[in-house]
Amino acid sequence: MEEPKVALTLMGVPIHDVTMDETITRVAGWIAHGGPAQIATVNPEFLMRARQDASFGAVLRRAALCLPDGSGIVWAAWLRGSPVRERVAGSDLVPRLAREASQHGWRVYFLGAAPGVAEAAASVLAARNSALQIAGCYAGSPDPEEEAEIIKRVKEARTDLLLVAYGAPKQDLWLGRNLERTGAAVGIGVGGSFDFVAGVSRRAPYWMQRAGLEWLHRLIQEPSRWRRQTALPHFAWLVLTGRDRSTPPLKDSR
Ligand code: UDP
Repeated sequence: MEEPKVALTLMGVPIHDVTMDETITRVAGWIAHGGPAQIATVNPEFLMRARQDASFGAVLRRAALCLPDGSGIVWAAWLRGSPVRERVAGSDLVPRLAREASQHGWRVYFLGAAPGVAEAAASVLAARNSALQIAGCYAGSPDPEEEAEIIKRVKEARTDLLLVAYGAPKQDLWLGRNLERTGAAVGIGVGGSFDFVAGVSRRAPYWMQRAGLEWLHRLIQEPSRWRRQTALPHFAWLVLTGRDRSTPPLKDSR
């Protein structure tokens, strides 16, 4: 299969123009032919972080797919005259992947989130997809001291598809360091997706998603996100002024 098309580069990070269906086709290809392939679900907060964090930026640049997850990314691509065809959100991808996994016999590992949430999300998805093969569920932690234990669990479970919910950038850095060692063909940082599937937090109503206001819904639900979300107007300003093209990374989080 040919390389996915890069629609544009923002803060030095390539954004791929792939649809949900094409994402699934690529995941199927990597699982059939071995991978490993890392997928990142990119939103403006990712990019503002990558702008200041060299190792996060490097992981995103190495990822097999940087999906246009946030509506801010879709807007920036449109503004640059390089539109992407679809917003592909991690929260939509997880239920879709569960369906495909149950049809194709992929073994899925649910790693991360608060204790019990990965199990709850997996059982909701298994109830909807009776043939879903759950390789394992484990909250664990993104701390380096836990890595060896987690890698062992994921590897012994013969995982095809590893979903990691430690939030960005931890989940993506974790996959950047460890995906290959887990033996999984595909690894995806899925943020708060387990919380949504398990009903721990509520996703924005569809009209808000369509209107590009999912960030506002998350802010109302979790007001403590306001500091993170100050990244959004800053992102918009950098894109509007073209300054996102000339911003060197400042520090390295490793
Ligand atoms: N999380 C975790 N360990 C951590 C940090 C976060 O398990 O050290 C989990 C958290 O419980 C949540 C998920 O990571 O389920 C996503 O967090 P967040 O909402 O910050 O991520 P986003 O969707 O914004 O990327």
